[in-house]
Amino acid sequence: MGKSGTSAVRLLKSRGHEVHAFDDLKSSMPEDLSDVPLFSKELFSKELTPFSYEGVVASPGLPLDHWVLNQARERRIPILSELDLALLGYQGKVVAVTGTNGKSTTSSLVYHLLRQLGKQVAFGGNIGTALSELALSGLPDYLVLEISSYQAQGSFLIAPSVTVFCNFSPDHLDMHGTLEEYFRAKMRLVDQTLPDGHFITESHVLQRMKSQGCLYPKNTSVSDQLEASFYDKIRSFFHLKEPHNIKNAAQAILAVAALLNQKPEDMLPYLSSFVGLAHRCERVGSVGHTSVINDSKSTNVDSTLTALTAYSGNILLLIGGRPKKESMTPILDHIHKISRIVTFGEASGQVKKELSQIPIFEVSHMEDLPDFLARHPLTEDVLLLSPACASFDQFKNFEERGQRFKIIMQRLPGFIPISG
Ligand code: ADP
Repeated sequence: MGKSGTSAVRLLKSRGHEVHAFDDLKSSMPEDLSDVPLFSKELFSKELTPFSYEGVVASPGLPLDHWVLNQARERRIPILSELDLALLGYQGKVVAVTGTNGKSTTSSLVYHLLRQLGKQVAFGGNIGTALSELALSGLPDYLVLEISSYQAQGSFLIAPSVTVFCNFSPDHLDMHGTLEEYFRAKMRLVDQTLPDGHFITESHVLQRMKSQGCLYPKNTSVSDQLEASFYDKIRSFFHLKEPHNIKNAAQAILAVAALLNQKPEDMLPYLSSFVGLAHRCERVGSVGHTSVINDSKSTNVDSTLTALTAYSGNILLLIGGRPKKESMTPILDHIHKISRIVTFGEASGQVKKELSQIPIFEVSHMEDLPDFLARHPLTEDVLLLSPACASFDQFKNFEERGQRFKIIMQRLPGFIPISG
């Protein structure tokens, strides 16, 4: 009964269903849903529910093997994801974006381009407002969905007109077990692409699909095989200059051009009004000649490598949090750029062990950074928060981590925020 769950209840009620809610932890419903019975234990016992349910709707965060879902399976009750519920009967066109890194940026760009082109479009999935809430007031002709691997795994009704599989590298192995399972979860979205739909990806993803014998749509475009001159044009129109963002823009352009059956070149001018998202290689200010970058959204090693590639000069790398099950040693490829690492949170032990060739300093929390810098002043060109880890050991989520970082930076003597 988080945001998605309560939105799903509202949507079901608006469609005339009688609804029972379930949450392991919560004991009350929001005021407007106070007539909905809330269960926290036995949901299917005879005394409480002397009838069978027509269906069970699962919130995105609910593990697919949760006992409530297993009990529904045993009783042959259909399970719908919250996304599926919102999409039931939807007749419009869907652009679905998945991949390990770059989903939010690419999907936001697709949404931005469609709006600039005057289309009626909604944006949801793993980002922003729950799709069930958007569906309450009716979904427009076009829908852009950012889809996580969990959502891809648990949804059956997405049926995209265009699927973008941005890229692939190890992540979320705690949830999916193996790399193959994680890949297969994302592949479900490719399998569900409409027969005359389009598929946009990079060569390394297509290579992996071929080696695993996966099928893919006949309209497939490989974004890293576009001509260099096309990338030059993107660079001239797009404010975000980092190589990974140029790749994200290329995929977004291909997706919208395929969706609307237009030339990719026609999309270029609309790139210029896109300002970028917070917490993704976001330049937040400077201290003297040092640029301060907030890349709190980096929750795996691959995205930290991307951020390290994007900057030149000496870098002080701020890294830490709850590590994923992956090695950090690829960071050593950038050893010539990283003059110091400051590590915090649960990852400190792994960082000190695996990256010991770089000078490493440990603080218990990011809050201690100003004190540390008072003792060991900044000399670098870039101070980069790109944690390579999940935030949950010390923060609610990556947004809170990035917000705190910006506030902590204000305590540095001489810090000039980007806005002023
Ligand atoms: P996601 O929604 O998949 O987490 P975001 O667009 O929010 O992706 O970007 C998160 C971080 O991932 C960025 O700050 C950057 O470090 C990295 N990143 C973004 N785009 C790419 C890309 N195309 N390839 C590799 N890394 C990327």
